[in-house]
Amino acid sequence: MKIIGLTGGIGSGKSTVAGLLAELGAVIIDADKIGHKVLDSDSKAREQVVASFGKRILNPDGSVDRSELGRIVFAEHKALSLLNGIMHSRIYLVVKAKIEQYRKQGARVVVIDAPLLIEASWAAMVDVVWVVTATKASIFKRLEKTGLSRDETMARIRSQLTESERIKMADVVVNNDCSLNELKLKVGMLWQGLQFDTCK
Ligand code: ATP
Repeated sequence: MKIIGLTGGIGSGKSTVAGLLAELGAVIIDADKIGHKVLDSDSKAREQVVASFGKRILNPDGSVDRSELGRIVFAEHKALSLLNGIMHSRIYLVVKAKIEQYRKQGARVVVIDAPLLIEASWAAMVDVVWVVTATKASIFKRLEKTGLSRDETMARIRSQLTESERIKMADVVVNNDCSLNELKLKVGMLWQGLQFDTCK
């Protein structure tokens, strides 16, 4: 089984690449979704988050208001480190368990879609690191449509590694400054290459 660690800056196109890989037959582990589940279902984690950031991050129904939490942590590096300290080890355990589950099920290619793969030192648990890149101009244009303001996008970009730092850690760079059709072709070619790597 081959494990791909798929990472990249905010809005670079990680989920889009993960979706294309899923269409080709890969199994996807989405670290962001796991993080959301942890916040929803792990009461200890939620308690620690509330103790760190206050009740203002809670919705009236007691669930975590992720937009508000995002506004707080992306405005201040210390706050982000604090949140990562609460969340990363918990997400890591779920990711590890899922990898083992998919291994037992005989999956050939597992993709861990994780924006902070490198920052969280998870590169050691994958066989290859794929980094998706896009220019800031493309990212702003694409994320505008999702409702994130330019300032919010900039705050997130500043909180992450730079593109060149990420590229240094990459085995494969997927340049997503192209159309979706071209991206699909690129991912298809990379997938073909993987089939040689994963044959038994
Ligand atoms: P996040 O960091 O927010 O999780 P991401 O890196 O997973 O983002 P995506 O969600 O895949 O990025 O892409 C961001 C937006 O850009 C989406 O609306 C997606 O449809 C669009 N997009 C991605 N790649 C392209 C492309 N090559 N051409 C046009 N739009 C694209």
